[in-house]
Amino acid sequence: MKPIFNRAPLTPNAMAPLPLGSIRPEGWLLDQLRTQADGLSRKLCEVWPDVGENCAWLGGEGDGWERAPYYLDGLIPLAWALDDAGMKATCEKYVEWMLASQREDGWFGPEKNEDHWPLMVALKALRQYFSATGDKRVLVLMDRFFKYQYRNLAAHPLKAWAVARGGENMELALWLYNLTGQKYLLELCRKLRAQTLDWATFFHTFPNTMPTGRSLKWERLEEGMKEELADGDELAGENRPFFQTQYHLSHGVNVAMGLKTPGVINLFKSGFKEQGGFKFGWAKLMKHHGVASGVFTCDEHLSGASPTQGTETCTVVELMYTLETLIGLGDYGTELPDILEKAAYNALPAAFTPDMSGHQYDQQVNQIKVSNEPRKWYNNGDDSNLFGFSPNFGCCTANYHQGWPKFTSHLWYATNDGGLAAISYAPCTVRAALGGVPARLKVSGGYPFSQTVRIEVAVKQPAEFPLYLRVPYWARQPMIYLPDGEIMQVRANETTCVRRKWRTGDVVRLEMPTAPRLTRWYHQSGAVEFGPLLMAFQPKEDWQQLDNGDWQVTTEENWNWALLRDEPMKAVVEGERDTAFGKGGPGVKVLAKAAPVEWTMDGASAGSVPMAPAPQGPARVIELKPFGDTALRIAQFPIAIDPVR
Ligand SMILES: [Zn+2]
Repeated sequence: MKPIFNRAPLTPNAMAPLPLGSIRPEGWLLDQLRTQADGLSRKLCEVWPDVGENCAWLGGEGDGWERAPYYLDGLIPLAWALDDAGMKATCEKYVEWMLASQREDGWFGPEKNEDHWPLMVALKALRQYFSATGDKRVLVLMDRFFKYQYRNLAAHPLKAWAVARGGENMELALWLYNLTGQKYLLELCRKLRAQTLDWATFFHTFPNTMPTGRSLKWERLEEGMKEELADGDELAGENRPFFQTQYHLSHGVNVAMGLKTPGVINLFKSGFKEQGGFKFGWAKLMKHHGVASGVFTCDEHLSGASPTQGTETCTVVELMYTLETLIGLGDYGTELPDILEKAAYNALPAAFTPDMSGHQYDQQVNQIKVSNEPRKWYNNGDDSNLFGFSPNFGCCTANYHQGWPKFTSHLWYATNDGGLAAISYAPCTVRAALGGVPARLKVSGGYPFSQTVRIEVAVKQPAEFPLYLRVPYWARQPMIYLPDGEIMQVRANETTCVRRKWRTGDVVRLEMPTAPRLTRWYHQSGAVEFGPLLMAFQPKEDWQQLDNGDWQVTTEENWNWALLRDEPMKAVVEGERDTAFGKGGPGVKVLAKAAPVEWTMDGASAGSVPMAPAPQGPARVIELKPFGDTALRIAQFPIAIDPVR
């Protein structure tokens, strides 16, 4: 398999994803993926009927909507990242059923399903299967299905979730166009675009500057309408179109997916609105709903920037996939990999128990009690904050599997001049044809827990090709050490091209020193960041398993710390780490001076961050850990006035 670049008349791209299986995890990332596989991914199909033998995606009577496709969409990249024969065999069961399910007219999947949305997820999964195996039956299925859509979209239109998520459908059709050059696929994209929510306009005008609870009051909606908002086909009643559009445009997972839609449309209909869609949308999302873990809040719907509002796990993984997609489509600014890294190294690992057998539906940045109690969510259940099998709703149970495996398969991209470009330096091995020669890159160093990255090259024969090495914005006086002893002083927030004749044993070393930095958030709160990691104070955690198997986490320790303004912070890098998030092991910590302040609980959540509070006791040094290693934490701190020294 070769990387697939954009075909004219689509906007050209300089980078494209590598075929699945080209990138294998190493070090801590390998432990992370193995933990995921052993935690739930390998056995989900045995323990959860929704994706098991009796699900409609294997021909049974059970669930026939998004769950099995979601699961497969993560299981395929996981199985090929780990080269795991058992998980590959599981994937093949679903793939074979999907291939065999296609009707004469091109529609496929469970007989009872008429919704385009779960088929989009199935196609995302099948495309990865093709990328890993080269099985051309996938292309035949896609072509026949897209022809069905081309002929029938007027009579059988996108509805509800599919209207919000049509960008996924267009992106898949364009991918097939890049392979086959069939013009009808471009025409299909125009038809799909006409039925898809106008995300580009939404991101430019951004009406949702308030928590959704203030404009679309959930408790005031009639019961019947609540279900129709999400799933309904019939838009009876004069307010319903308004509410349904509002509902979908403020829905967190939709927004995370919608962020890619302008960039996808830009490939075939380039304009200012489309080109700036992500950039403007992201800036406004973070301004009005952003939290320090690198994501926006959505306890189902956009919920403002308070660090005790929730963020759904599906939103985290879909945001990551949006960024991975946009980078591969050519929408490559220095900003996108930074956003991707921040979500991957903070919000993603925070969503799971250390063994990845359980997850939260909603995570909080300031989270000091994980329990089944009411929160100020928009419309999520009280159990959303528990770690468990399917707290609140089963979408995340099915969908979270794509997070780590797809991040792994997008750490490096192929470039259109025969080289490779780095997006993030997590430990891995990359195999690709570089400069026309089979080559292997081994990336080590334990990034992001340390800031030294070592890249060792092996080539079948000496060959010239470029490596594009990205240096994040937070690096201070970064250096690249080349094999011949040359030292390149490079700049932060830039990508450096190293083009040379490579030989086996050549080693490139990146030094990207950094220091803890204070960033400012909601209510003048401050967050401590170190490289791409958000750092958090973690009180002593007490985990208790509930009768249904879910976990609550409580603490007796004080957590009401405010950071002292202008006090220096110190980072301690403990050495190369080879263990997954949440499992401890060496890594990094930051020591910061803090004082207790008047700050209490508000129900089961930490109260609103006090603004410029006065210290209530002596200052001391507190230890901050990577956010992704914690279940309980404070990560957006008050900044105390009048430090006590
Ligand atoms: Zn979910």
